[in-house]
Amino acid sequence: MITETYDLVVVGGGPAGLAAALEGYSNGAQSVLILERDKELGGILNQCIHNGFGLHYFKEELTGPEYAQRFVDMLRDTNVQVKLDTMVLEITRGKQIHCMNSKDGYMVIQAKAIVLAMGCRERTRGAIAIPGDRPAGIFTAGTAQRYVNMEGYMVGKRVIILGSGDIGLIMARRMTLEGAKVLACVELMPYSNGLNRNIVQCLKDYDIPLYLAHTITDIQGDGRVEKVVVSKVDENRKPIPGTEMTFDCDTVLLSVGLIPENELSKSAGLAMDRRTSGPVVFENMETSIQGIFACGNVVHVHDLVDFVTAESQRAGRAAGKYIAGGEQKSESLLEVQNGSCVNYTVPQKIRTENVEKAAEIFFRVNNVYKNVVIKVTDGDHEIVRFKREHMAPGEMEKITVPKALLENIAGTLTVSVGKEETA
Ligand SMILES: Cc1cc2nc3c(=O)[nH]c(=O)nc-3n(C[C@H](O)[C@H](O)[C@H](O)COP(=O)(O)OP(=O)(O)OC[C@H]3O[C@@H](n4cnc5c(N)ncnc54)[C@H](O)[C@@H]3O)c2cc1C
Repeated sequence: MITETYDLVVVGGGPAGLAAALEGYSNGAQSVLILERDKELGGILNQCIHNGFGLHYFKEELTGPEYAQRFVDMLRDTNVQVKLDTMVLEITRGKQIHCMNSKDGYMVIQAKAIVLAMGCRERTRGAIAIPGDRPAGIFTAGTAQRYVNMEGYMVGKRVIILGSGDIGLIMARRMTLEGAKVLACVELMPYSNGLNRNIVQCLKDYDIPLYLAHTITDIQGDGRVEKVVVSKVDENRKPIPGTEMTFDCDTVLLSVGLIPENELSKSAGLAMDRRTSGPVVFENMETSIQGIFACGNVVHVHDLVDFVTAESQRAGRAAGKYIAGGEQKSESLLEVQNGSCVNYTVPQKIRTENVEKAAEIFFRVNNVYKNVVIKVTDGDHEIVRFKREHMAPGEMEKITVPKALLENIAGTLTVSVGKEETA
């Protein structure tokens, strides 16, 4: 039984959902609804009280809550509706959204278009199987961030951080500022997975050692974490016996990766990409089901929220256009593939006739590279190349390929990274 109908329903009220809803509204969607399971809008930004947000989009340095508030304020000038404390349980191919909250009960909402913006979740200890006891004191870095910054609980006094992703780096600084001693940040890979600016500002500035090519090989504790054993690893990431270091600590924070939150996408039957763990999307963020769009961390994990905003505006604009009756043409379809040194690409498919001026392609490399070129090729034919002095897996790359270069190509577009050939 349909309880309500809307032009556009956005699932998730984080930065992706907010930008998509606003843009959908400005592009013709008459009735727009945001469904958010939390008590407030803003998503993960609400717990990111450090600054550094908005440098690209607002050209100023904001905290996470300030960045989110700018978009929440913009909603006030619209008739976009919001349902908080509302959990979306299922989405169907026919664009019905099953959700519930304590006020309205169980609802089935019919939408003309849907934008999926559910964000991502953190990998836990279970996902990486760290050996040792199972004491209290082991948190994902994001959970600790929420406890410290939003709930007002300090999670520990002597801390080891496993993984050098951005959230772990930021929590190294946060815990130090709150009076804890961060003994080390331990990274399995021979390079950090975080942004360079975070390594400098969150570890080096506070003399926190970063152990690259190391991992935790034992956690000991009866009730609460008491000791953590860290070992060096070889090139196959196997611990090297005899290299153990023991740290007396009471807390372990895990910053070992994020996974797009895609249970709803899968149950709706969207084509998924195993490389990103998100849905396959076209140039305008439309998924394999016409009229269902996706953006933000639910598609691929972003390191900067400014890029989330830009991508989500694209999804919102496209949803507005779709509602106005504009199904996308798909006569010339390009499959975007990753070539050497590249882990994935977003979008995975480009319908050239729908590209306005240029197609933006996002991707990540699989290692650290210096002085390389990014090549976009159609078979043996090179379409365009871009030089880069430094590339790393922790830094998402964006290239812009002008529409004129994509015309008259059919089939496959490959993005690869390599050394520049010398004549
Ligand atoms: C812990 C963490 C720290 C970060 N720190 C930084 C940083 O310092 N600087 C930076 O630039 N970027 C940072 N990022 C990245 C950036 O903030 C994210 O890229 C951005 O928040 C992603 O926006 P989003 O809207 O896609 O996801 P989120 O912000 O995660 O929003 C998704 C929303 O969807 C809601 N939702 C999910 N499932 C459902 C459902 N079934 N029903 C209803 N609602 C649902 C969630 O409650 C949430 O509010 C961080 C990311 C994480 C995870």
